[in-house]
Amino acid sequence: MYIIIHKTNNGLNEEQKRVFDEKLLLKGDIRLNDNFALADPSHKLILRPDAVREIFDFVEWDVGQRLDVRDEQGGILIGKRFLDEGRGIHYVVVTKSISADGAHGSMGSLEITNQCWGLMHDKKDDYNREIDQKAIIVGWFHTHPNQLGCFMSSVDRYTQDLFFDGDNTYSIVINPQRHLLKAYRAKTCLDAQAFLLLDCPHGTEN
Ligand SMILES: [Zn+2]
Repeated sequence: MYIIIHKTNNGLNEEQKRVFDEKLLLKGDIRLNDNFALADPSHKLILRPDAVREIFDFVEWDVGQRLDVRDEQGGILIGKRFLDEGRGIHYVVVTKSISADGAHGSMGSLEITNQCWGLMHDKKDDYNREIDQKAIIVGWFHTHPNQLGCFMSSVDRYTQDLFFDGDNTYSIVINPQRHLLKAYRAKTCLDAQAFLLLDCPHGTEN
């Protein structure tokens, strides 16, 4: 994904310290990312059902094995960071995803212009007013469509390094046709643990 944007305000993204009840949050159906087992368990990305649904609808995940040729798609992940000091685990909880609707996609790239980036920021601000909280940009997602596998290309790594370089900043790469999904973390694109909550029967808090 090529992005022409300003810095994503990582300075605002400090973690909130609190004991984190992971068991409560992780009840229900969960999809783990395909590179989950390779990842450091002291950093966890949790996507709540609304955010998962927004991403899956946008990339047409449920349409699955359709053979049409698709362009790259992408967007940003909005949520909060928590640090459970007792257990030494860093959590990022994503409550919303915002798709880059006006981006120029092709089979091998996605260019998010300044205008498109501005629209995503406006949507983030609207969302914060709606929930009366201060959720922040905690990462991004994009697709590798058609026969492409999921990995961080050199351009993706450049984007991550430049705009999403925080220690607890994530990138998700999705192939919606082959149902592949991988998650990466930090400047150097480490394998990451991601929990995608497909439902949340207990109505748990953030
Ligand atoms: Zn890519």
